[in-house]
Amino acid sequence: MADYVIGDLKPADLPVPEDGLSAAQMFNGGEGLTYNDFIILPGYIDFTAEEVELVSPLTRQITLKAPLVSSPMDTVTESDMAIAMALSGGIGIIHHNCTPEYQAAEVHKVKKYKHGFIRDPVVLSPNHTVRDVINVKAEHGFSGVPITENGKIGGKLVGIVTSRDIDFLEDSPSQGNLKLSTIMTQTENLVTAKSRVTLQEANSILEKSKKGKLPIVNDKGELVSLMARTDLKKNRSYPSASKDENKQLLVGAAIGTRMADRERLKLLASAGVDVVVLDSSQGNSIYQIEMIKFIKSEFPELQVIAGNVVTTMQAKNLIEAGADGLRVGMGSGSICITQEVMAVGRPQATAVYKVAEYARRFGIPIIADGGIQSIGHIIKALSLGASTVMMGSLLAGTSEAPGEYFFSDGVRLKKYRGMGSLEAMDRKDAKGSAMDRYFHNEMDKMKVAQGVSGSIVDKGSVLKFLPYLQCGIKHGCQDIGAKSVSSLRALTYSGELRFERRSPSAQQEGNVHSLFSYEKRLY
Ligand code: GDP
Ligand code: 5GP
Repeated sequence: MADYVIGDLKPADLPVPEDGLSAAQMFNGGEGLTYNDFIILPGYIDFTAEEVELVSPLTRQITLKAPLVSSPMDTVTESDMAIAMALSGGIGIIHHNCTPEYQAAEVHKVKKYKHGFIRDPVVLSPNHTVRDVINVKAEHGFSGVPITENGKIGGKLVGIVTSRDIDFLEDSPSQGNLKLSTIMTQTENLVTAKSRVTLQEANSILEKSKKGKLPIVNDKGELVSLMARTDLKKNRSYPSASKDENKQLLVGAAIGTRMADRERLKLLASAGVDVVVLDSSQGNSIYQIEMIKFIKSEFPELQVIAGNVVTTMQAKNLIEAGADGLRVGMGSGSICITQEVMAVGRPQATAVYKVAEYARRFGIPIIADGGIQSIGHIIKALSLGASTVMMGSLLAGTSEAPGEYFFSDGVRLKKYRGMGSLEAMDRKDAKGSAMDRYFHNEMDKMKVAQGVSGSIVDKGSVLKFLPYLQCGIKHGCQDIGAKSVSSLRALTYSGELRFERRSPSAQQEGNVHSLFSYEKRLY
């Protein structure tokens, strides 16, 4: 018998020797680590990847079906991105490098994208003309307009005009003056529902009636709200969409902490924003604490994400002030030069672990913001206690990101720039500029950039890219042996999840190597 055999024992007879390190052991060593500095050891699989649950909290009161957030940057998130993020189960935060009116209009577009009951539908009167409906279509993108006696919601419903009523009139200038009373479908030929109807009942009336719209009226025949058949289809196509109680998509918006931002906030709140992100690179300030208190007293229904922070001390002040969530990261973003210029910040993996481990005691979820380059980084951020991850560069090349594609050396690219880059701060176009994240004083004559601008390769649509990310996260969780994002966090805090440091050569080994050439297609 070979001399390395110890004896005739079975595995069950012995405790398993300790392998790897717990998160606490790894991150309490005093050295700051990045996502690339460590690896997670695999666990035990007794479920399929499909079964993995990605539900995770964004804030105290908002829970997402996918832990994915798009960054408030002017080359990442406006309404198109926010709609796609919410349809896919995540959320988009609309940037504020624009006028308050522009930002509020972008929020409004997301909230109007789909509904349960449309409680503020565009309404016209019988005296309005075909041209008015054409204008509604140009401005809002739909042409199903209920007609009431006084042209307002709450007026007596007398008919409806839909795209089919104007299809053939649109091209003829002379028909533009036709009164809607002459072309609308009159109330007696409409399927309507009574205001007591539940959302489910209304849905089934819409389904059976085969009509495009269902006006909801009270006992006096006055218009109370509207439902659109398209929304049933949108619901079916995106069952995991992030929605509020009226089935409208969830959306966030970033603001600064100045007096002028209080005015901006009012516009955003009336546009229906669900969560505001206080956008500072160093969030532990009197300005942010005052802003949190202001929002909590004036807009108590709004969720507030404060930050950015990277230490427990910073987190303490913002949690005490009433933050519902924290954004963690300083200097880890792909376009970011803060650590180089300001000499402050923290390697992202350590920042996420430290702040999450502290904030969880108070039920405050954290967003790991910046430095996410791959699915592996998302899984690592979640395994360090983050509830969601915020992405800039990973989403910037998609078709929903603002900006036009251009070609360079035959490659299709989109611009991506830091919000602290000189280019973003000097923005002068119709959207306006308002970047003060990296400047605290309007008197600052000399600008010091904290970001750069560059470009990102075309990634196609977010509506395809996010399902790919989610599928990857599920497979990662399966390898770890975590059936959900919340059980992943539980494994971290119980010490069962084991980590190991990666030497520079281990990092090389973990990447593609030894090939003459290779092709990297992601999905
Ligand atoms: P239409 O047939 O041209 O009216 O357009 P659809 O019914 O296909 O799509 C209308 C979409 O816009 C739906 O998702 C609605 O929820 C949304 N929407 C938001 N606000 C309004 C509104 O005031 N009126 C109408 N008709 N739709 C609205
Ligand atoms: P990425 O996903 O590209 O690695 O990082 C995006 C994050 O970088 C943003 O969510 C934001 O926190 C941060 N960021 C955006 N613009 C700048 C900038 O100009 N300077 C710095 N320091 N950070 C930025």
